[in-house]
Amino acid sequence: MRLKDKVAIVTGAAHGIGLAIARHYVAEGAKVAIADVDATAGEAAARSLGNARFLATDVGDAASAANAIAETCRAFGDIDIAVNNAGIIHAADFLELTEADFDRVLRVNLKGAFLIGQAAARRMVTQVKSGKPPGAIVNISSINAVVAIANHTPYCVSKGGIDQLTKVMALSLAPYGIRVNAIGPGSIMTDILKAVATDKEAKRRILSRTPLGRIGEPEEIAAIAVFLASSAASYMTGQTIYPTAAGSRSTTPCRSRSRRSSDTQRMYSWT
Ligand code: NAD
Repeated sequence: MRLKDKVAIVTGAAHGIGLAIARHYVAEGAKVAIADVDATAGEAAARSLGNARFLATDVGDAASAANAIAETCRAFGDIDIAVNNAGIIHAADFLELTEADFDRVLRVNLKGAFLIGQAAARRMVTQVKSGKPPGAIVNISSINAVVAIANHTPYCVSKGGIDQLTKVMALSLAPYGIRVNAIGPGSIMTDILKAVATDKEAKRRILSRTPLGRIGEPEEIAAIAVFLASSAASYMTGQTIYPTAAGSRSTTPCRSRSRRSSDTQRMYSWT
């Protein structure tokens, strides 16, 4: 077991990639706090995983983020691993995007990672100073940190920010031995993408820019999150792993034809 007796918090772990990471961490011997806004799914996830606890958390709220870290430590002792995974999207033509929607996405995707990351890091530094081993932080970025999509301004900006946040945190926390890395997935089969997979044209478009020719599974991202949190990555910090980036062909891979924002367009343009 690569994470035996480690304590982890995974944000946005009620669904999708976060849930897969939480599941892998528990399987590797960790105790996991599931921090999510979705209480129904979060409670169910914690019950199904066993060595896990749900914490009602809005990562974009400073008090809620601080409380999540404090509660994790109260429940399990210290904190060794923090995974900033919670994320949302909003599709809109650049010229029509509202300030409120821009703020809403940045608040969860970027500010949330800062707030949870800072609260976790403060606790980890205190632990290091008391002689305990340093922890690790994993931020979930996206291929869209480096590949732009015309109608996903706040999402792309937030993920570009995550890559820089990862580097800044890595430099700041390196003196304590705390490692900070990120994962930038391409298209992963979570609920949002399942709807796309039934649409042949949308699927063709995604696969045309996916080197391995298939949509990834959440477990394949979770496996990387295990590696980054484990001692196998002990000499790795400040890096973003892009599992599928090498073959990305365009900086505007799925520009929508219409200016109208819709759920369908949003799903087509997820990555
Ligand atoms: P998802 O929608 O299945 O899960 C996101 C989770 O975040 C949900 O459980 C949701 O309740 C939670 N959440 C939303 N707002 C929150 C908040 N304010 N506080 C706490 N939790 C909140 O999405 P997913 O596909 O599993 O994506 C997870 C992460 O992976 C995101 O950061 C996303 O940007 C990134 N990502 C996903 C893909 C993909 O293809 N699925 C590709 C690249 C990157």
